[in-house]
Amino acid sequence: MSFRDDGYAAVEWVARYLDGVGDLPVLAQVEPGDLSAELLAAALNPVALNWRSAPASTELELRVLDWVRQLLGLPDGWHGHIEDAASTSTLAALIAARQATGRTVVVCSEHAHSSVEKDARMLGMELRKAPVDDELRMRTDLRLDDVAAVVATVGTTSFASVDPVRELAERAHSAGAWLHVDAAYAGSSWICEEERWSQDGVELADSLVVNASKWLLVPMDCSLLWTARPDAFREAFSLVPEYLRTSEDVYALSDYGPVLGRRFRSLKLWAVLRCFGAEGLRALQREHIRLAGLFADWVDADPEWELAAPQHFSLVVFRRNGTDEENEAIVERANRSGEIFLSHTKLNGRYVLRLAIGNARTTEADVRRAWEVLRR
Ligand code: PLP
Repeated sequence: MSFRDDGYAAVEWVARYLDGVGDLPVLAQVEPGDLSAELLAAALNPVALNWRSAPASTELELRVLDWVRQLLGLPDGWHGHIEDAASTSTLAALIAARQATGRTVVVCSEHAHSSVEKDARMLGMELRKAPVDDELRMRTDLRLDDVAAVVATVGTTSFASVDPVRELAERAHSAGAWLHVDAAYAGSSWICEEERWSQDGVELADSLVVNASKWLLVPMDCSLLWTARPDAFREAFSLVPEYLRTSEDVYALSDYGPVLGRRFRSLKLWAVLRCFGAEGLRALQREHIRLAGLFADWVDADPEWELAAPQHFSLVVFRRNGTDEENEAIVERANRSGEIFLSHTKLNGRYVLRLAIGNARTTEADVRRAWEVLRR
């Protein structure tokens, strides 16, 4: 079936559902476990407060998180659930870390995403930013004895650099601290075995965030949060008032994060997994990485341009010879052309450009055109 046929069929299905919704029971008439294969039928806006109010949403979320855990090669037994954004996932992890350690200091790299700083600020936790080495990786010679959580980044926002997770995890744990890994962007690449070099040590993490909405083709928003310490999350988040008590002794996903009611995000993750399949997703990731490598080669071969940081995943950080103002003008004009969109960052005070590839429809012709627009 084509995308168009699927779309018409889906609209038909929704129209039929809405026509007949008055004849259906208000509450799903199923037992825990019944829905593990029978998923799409509960697609329409379940009020997912607990298992009773939204069995399909609860069960599908657990099921697909476990599929993705396996696809990414993460340890057995990790508990996964979905938050709206990586900012919330990291917030939840820091809350669990604070609860587990009784400490209030967070350490991350100077290149960690601003969400870590914002989360720490919202929680009234002290943030310490660690310097990086020549490859833009967080240094590990840190004092951690009063630290609640170390946040290691796999795929930093600006440069896609990869912190030394194994060493940070070992040091964090021997100091009694929690290790949270922010792989919001790059974690999706672990679906490809050859990209798992960046996963080294992640199996030691206490918590991990990967955004399926960044590079796993799931439309915004969908942030996947796993933990090796579900008990610590429950201790931090579980609060069941009388009006939410039900007779089933089953999972409440609200025990693992800040929100009670949740959207049926697992359905779109399920749809992406079923539409593309593991091999389809791998092929796309590989193509994006190939295209980024190709673009990096063009930049490298042109004496008027240079790569500004080591190239990882599907991000290229580069600049044209000349002043910061000239480079800024290039970004402004390129973006105003309506043909491409790229962003910038600063490295050691210098303005650098960032080209990121992550869309299922991006082709080599698009990347070639981007290069032409930039040179023009
Ligand atoms: N972590 C990293 C590494 C990111 O690159 C980003 C966003 O770009 C975030 C966290 C924050 O993501 P979100 O918008 O889902 O909160």
